[in-house]
Amino acid sequence: MTRAGTFSRTVLAAGLLLAAHAWAAPAPDFQAAREEAVRLLSAYLRIDTVNPPGNETRGAEFLKSVLAREGIASEIFELVPGRGNLVARLKGSGRKRPVLMMGHIDVVGVEREKWTVDPFGGLVRDGLIYGRGAVDDKLMGIAGLEVLLMLHRLKIPLERDVIFLAEAGEESSTQVGIDFMVERHWDRIAAEFSLAESGGMLENNGVVTRVMVTATEKLSRNMKLVARGVSAHGSVPRADNPLLRLSSALVRLAAWRPPVRLNEVTRAYFSRLAAVSPPEEAYLYTHLDDPEAVEKLRARSPHLDALLRATITPTIMQGGFRDNTIPATAEATLMVRPLPDEDIPSLMASMREVIADAAVELQPSWGRRPAAPLSGLNTEMFQALERVQKRLFPKAVTLPTMATGSSDSAQMRAKGVHAYGIGTFGGSGGHGNDERVSVRGLGALVEFLYNAIVEVAAAR
Ligand SMILES: [Zn+2]
Repeated sequence: MTRAGTFSRTVLAAGLLLAAHAWAAPAPDFQAAREEAVRLLSAYLRIDTVNPPGNETRGAEFLKSVLAREGIASEIFELVPGRGNLVARLKGSGRKRPVLMMGHIDVVGVEREKWTVDPFGGLVRDGLIYGRGAVDDKLMGIAGLEVLLMLHRLKIPLERDVIFLAEAGEESSTQVGIDFMVERHWDRIAAEFSLAESGGMLENNGVVTRVMVTATEKLSRNMKLVARGVSAHGSVPRADNPLLRLSSALVRLAAWRPPVRLNEVTRAYFSRLAAVSPPEEAYLYTHLDDPEAVEKLRARSPHLDALLRATITPTIMQGGFRDNTIPATAEATLMVRPLPDEDIPSLMASMREVIADAAVELQPSWGRRPAAPLSGLNTEMFQALERVQKRLFPKAVTLPTMATGSSDSAQMRAKGVHAYGIGTFGGSGGHGNDERVSVRGLGALVEFLYNAIVEVAAAR
């Protein structure tokens, strides 16, 4: 009796505490947050941070001024003048290690004549926000900034520091950005978890059906093929013409299928995808050890095939200089995207076997991103993302994914951080023309990110 009484009082007290906690926690106004994020993104897009040259400090100063208005301190770090990285931090109790949100300041260049709007105008029209970086990656920068502002204004008690990093040089000059920050200012950005670009959401008729969370990415290792022969008059054909030998080598490489190899992330991806796909597709996703199924999958989706194996794509060919002369050399650049744990020397040995021509040299690979372990699917952060997905988008499924492109999350993973890529729906034109994101997509990203950060960092 006493025991039961104590038990029910305890339950009642716990219930009251929970209720009090829930009641005390100020509810964010996501509508207002979305409107503010639209204004901030539009202003941020008006700052030209095309890399090269980058001029990221301009973007960093903008972010700094927004934070300063709210009384949030931030620092700008430059390895090279003008190429600033910004860091801000909301302090938590320190009971748990920090969580980091990041978004790169630099953007790729534009072919201005192919845009129907000013790429640096920050135009907001018919529910869309236009500009270079609207998707990649000023979107993520503003989502992170907005979440920081919200946490600060609502005075959410934190048990982790929440760090905001806006980095320079993500688009092909990481030495001034993430590499510099990791090597020289690790104390400012060290975290247990990070959230950045490269995931996404799929929306069908106004309902989010898929939430993609990137937990690993393929490596980026470019290589060069050099074919050598004898320079001669073109009136007498030669079998050792480097243009021909290079072409044959490329054709042989294109016909080659590097072995299929799944990892923890792609295995989970395909099995979850199977669960929400029509039977015919689901069969393929669950029979990836059957070469026939794999061939069908490839015919259906080059993207899904690229998740199964290393890929090799010729991107540049150079050779010849005069229309009546056989050149002595011809070269091709290969964009190679090995699997995250690929043994590069053995991949190159296989490629040489496939090429099977001693006159065609495969030169050593290069790439600026480190190899890194996969980010776990059982971590507090990944589970929080799944819970938030269920709450905000109950009709959706969370798909852990492997990105085929590379990002600054690689450097974070290589430092032992569990780094995840998130994103939203309603965006298009990244690295292309008329880049834009929908106002609704931006709002959904802010809400998703805010909830995920609160789940892992707010004191209970
Ligand atoms: Zn990017």
